[in-house]
Amino acid sequence: MVVALKKNVSEERRQQLISWLKGMGIGVHISEGEFNTVIGLIGDTSKVDRDLIESLDIVESVTRVSESFKCCNRKFHPEDTVIDVKGVKIGGGNFCMMAGPCSVETEEQIVGIAKAVKAAGANMLRGGAFKPRTSPYDFQGLKGTGIELLKIASKETGLPIVSEIMSITDLPLFEDIDVLQVGARNMQNFDLLRELGRTNKPILLKRGLANTLKELLMSAEYIMASGNENIMLCERGIRTYSDYTRNTMDISAIPMLHELSHLPVIADPSHATGMARLVEPMALASAAAGADGLIIEVHNDPMHALCDGAQSLRPEDYAKLSAKIDAVRKAAL
Ligand code: PEP
Ligand code: MN
Repeated sequence: MVVALKKNVSEERRQQLISWLKGMGIGVHISEGEFNTVIGLIGDTSKVDRDLIESLDIVESVTRVSESFKCCNRKFHPEDTVIDVKGVKIGGGNFCMMAGPCSVETEEQIVGIAKAVKAAGANMLRGGAFKPRTSPYDFQGLKGTGIELLKIASKETGLPIVSEIMSITDLPLFEDIDVLQVGARNMQNFDLLRELGRTNKPILLKRGLANTLKELLMSAEYIMASGNENIMLCERGIRTYSDYTRNTMDISAIPMLHELSHLPVIADPSHATGMARLVEPMALASAAAGADGLIIEVHNDPMHALCDGAQSLRPEDYAKLSAKIDAVRKAAL
């Protein structure tokens, strides 16, 4: 249930209503808009007398929220959420360019790529230190050493870092990592989601390989229900009947998620296609569809990358793409 208050309601009257609701064991989610306040009710609202609330002189309207995702629902929070990562804003019209290699390999590699993507227009560095690989015999990432190298690259360039966390036991290593990525394979690792909800770190939550949008939103709900509201959703392609691409990029997920939720939506054309030459067209389509940012794999030497070389752009190609993104956003939005 969502209760929209009238404009200019006094703090005292507002608190009276909130305490009354809490007294009935109802969780309360407050969203301060530019003009009015929206109170989202969480929990068993069957005993809440809707007519009584509607009759209060401070209440503008009462709406039932039938969807099972509440905190991330746009009805609970009508305005776009804007996430601030060390001054880089994402959402609400702010576009974020995350770029970097699939995996951190050496100091020279990550620092070189960080400088190159920054020069090409990126405002966040991506790099995997813990890698969820299909085969246990493939490169699993540099782990703690990789995190240290990311910190060096961030120090050299000033770029905030996004990196994947696979297990909550690794959390202490991520203290200086700015955005924690939950990979597609962990989208429904509910214990991990719950624990990340107890941190105050922004989370990049990727859509699972075969998950619906509702399931993605329910996973965001797990994080939010534990207290962390700084979440970016990420469309990274899903398994369909595609025979020539790694996955199928669901461009329609971008406007649909915006309709359903107030959280920013990031597009990942690299994992969605698996092919460097398809990254640019899908990136442009994502920007035109209203994405709040892109996460793109860039490598200085894709032929010798330890992971995902086939889908990695060279820095010079990323620079060309980056310039086109600006033009598409200006034309489409
Ligand atoms: C990645 O970002 O390198 C990655 C493993 O992504 P995904 O979880 O989307 O496959
Ligand atoms: Mn990758």
